[in-house]
Amino acid sequence: MFESLSDGLQSAFKSLSGKGKLTESNMRDGLEIVQKSMLEADVSYSVVQDFMGHVSEKALGKRVLLSLRPHEELVRIVHDELISILGPVDSSLHLKSEGPTVIMLCGLQGSGKTTTCGKLSQLLKEQDIKPMLVAADLQRPAAIEQLHVIGRQLDIPVYSEADNKDPVKVCQNGVAKAKAEGARVVILDTAGRLAIDDELMAELAKIDKKVGPDQVYLVVDGMTGQDAVNSAGAFNDALELDGVVMTKLDGDARGGALLSVKHVTGVPIKFIGTGEHFDALEPFRPEGMASRILQMGDIVAAAREAHRIVDESEREELEAKMASGDFTLDDFKNMMEKVAKPGLMGKMMGLMPGMGQFKEMMDSEEAAGGIRQTIGAINSMTMEERRNPKIIDAHRRTRIAKGAGVQSPVITQLVKQFEMMKPLMQGMMGQGAGGRMKMMQQ
Ligand code: GDP
Repeated sequence: MFESLSDGLQSAFKSLSGKGKLTESNMRDGLEIVQKSMLEADVSYSVVQDFMGHVSEKALGKRVLLSLRPHEELVRIVHDELISILGPVDSSLHLKSEGPTVIMLCGLQGSGKTTTCGKLSQLLKEQDIKPMLVAADLQRPAAIEQLHVIGRQLDIPVYSEADNKDPVKVCQNGVAKAKAEGARVVILDTAGRLAIDDELMAELAKIDKKVGPDQVYLVVDGMTGQDAVNSAGAFNDALELDGVVMTKLDGDARGGALLSVKHVTGVPIKFIGTGEHFDALEPFRPEGMASRILQMGDIVAAAREAHRIVDESEREELEAKMASGDFTLDDFKNMMEKVAKPGLMGKMMGLMPGMGQFKEMMDSEEAAGGIRQTIGAINSMTMEERRNPKIIDAHRRTRIAKGAGVQSPVITQLVKQFEMMKPLMQGMMGQGAGGRMKMMQQ
């Protein structure tokens, strides 16, 4: 999810990490890449301008430029700014204490309104609240039946009128019925169109005015990028929206749309849809979303963790070793022992520029087992072998494998892995040895 935005930001951070020490001018280069990546991810221009304004102001501050790890500071600034523009949080349905609360869902055809009716109903049912659905989508022939199917699946009443062509009347009658039956929530499933048109907007505005729903939510398809933003603008002009539900964020959705829709409508993102099933509706959390956009997991915590596990003097020593090419399998083992904790290696991967894609791989049980095996194998090597793994020939390999209780290809693999991990370890040591970071960026 949000691949393009996070890729762009990752490359921006990569370019910064390679610089070692930052100056105002190369921080500006980094900011430019951030800006470009946001535009590429379909964030609209005005949102990008606003966003960059805030981020630049903070990133070019003295504290950041003088900081030892300025790129981390920049990540934090971008992360915080994302949270700030995605917020505030409000996933409450604002149910009234008396009488039915009327929730109207609107959006383009195919955006996921009818499905969201089912998802919201499921959510309410989990709180022991039984809603009533009203089939007011009289445009799409199958919509009424689709809602009845959902009603049967969830065991909730659905109000519809076969021959009534007036959606306002259907909604009014539906709400009256809900009142009479003592339902606490009524959800109106309104009509959509393939594209915005005046007739649709007039119909929805009329329902809004005559039925007076308590909450009006716009349902937008997160996969439609810039189109979602344009339609959100039109709905927002015609109706008084109270919130947005963005669907289909389980696919290859582009994160930019969410930022822009929030900006255009100015109302809270209430929920995100992450699948076709009724339970695939999540209350919107800006923190989680910002982390997903950056695809860096909990970067702040991971950065803190990295600092915690490798203390300053140790870091300097290891940096010096790597700079002189003295980083041995023994050092590798020490590092492994430090990071071989559940979740930590993955966090580190997420933290390192360009390494986000290895995060899940490293978080698995299998990876933890692999690390334990690696430590065992290094323990079976002589000091000389640990210092210079190149001397490990077939004969030595068999001996080491036997000692560690593994097959000898595991040892071949380990030596290869060591060569591959070297630059990653450098990354963890910090950016002091700027030039060497280049290895990680290829
Ligand atoms: P409507 O025309 O706005 O009522 O749209 P529907 O509710 O009929 O949804 C259109 C299609 O999108 C259906 O195939 C749904 O299963 C699918 N859909 C809705 N929400 C989601 C979601 O969050 N994720 C995915 N993957 N599909 C969704």
